[in-house]
Amino acid sequence: MSNPTIRESGNVDVCEDCMFLSVNGERPTEELPNWAPFSGANWADNTPQLQPSPNFGVDDDDTEYGMTEFSATPCESCGATLAGKRFDFMTWETVRPALTITTNGHQRELIAFADLTELEREQFDYMRADTYESHTPRFFRYRAWTYDAQEFTRITPRCESTYGDVHPVDSGSPLLQWDGAQPDTYFSGVLIRWGHDWSGEPDYDSVIVGSWSE
Ligand SMILES: [Zn+2]
Repeated sequence: MSNPTIRESGNVDVCEDCMFLSVNGERPTEELPNWAPFSGANWADNTPQLQPSPNFGVDDDDTEYGMTEFSATPCESCGATLAGKRFDFMTWETVRPALTITTNGHQRELIAFADLTELEREQFDYMRADTYESHTPRFFRYRAWTYDAQEFTRITPRCESTYGDVHPVDSGSPLLQWDGAQPDTYFSGVLIRWGHDWSGEPDYDSVIVGSWSE
């Protein structure tokens, strides 16, 4: 269980125009038809803490650092090939801990409220006995606890615009192979995937259960 950390990923040397844009938000006064700042490989992340940070200046001995008066190397932000001044910026990346999913892959039948023990029923005070709902399968037991499958939040890719209560995850996350999540900490929780009947159709009366932790 640990936090994602941000660490230095490298350096880029950028032209004067890109430097002023990054440091002051100042755009060049002259027309630059092909100027595409921040399009370089290490500049793409738009979260503020991952923006490249200036790594140039003048140190205590009046020595300039991170600045090159004349360089023919293309700008690593906009790709400009015009030779000239270059300024050094530090780039950053997020490092996420590896995610582990545990499951036995077994499909289990859901249990109706009416079929839970009295002790279990006390856990779900929003349910009422002797209603149609109380006879609908929706609960399951997992690791000495009882869960309501209807209370799991839907897992969706982070960028997708969605309504309601969802559990957003990064694209490519193994959690996207699951339908619902119920976190117990920010880094762990229980997962469900709806079952399938003999013909391969979804069966919402059963689930496969797993757990994840980072
Ligand atoms: Zn540039």
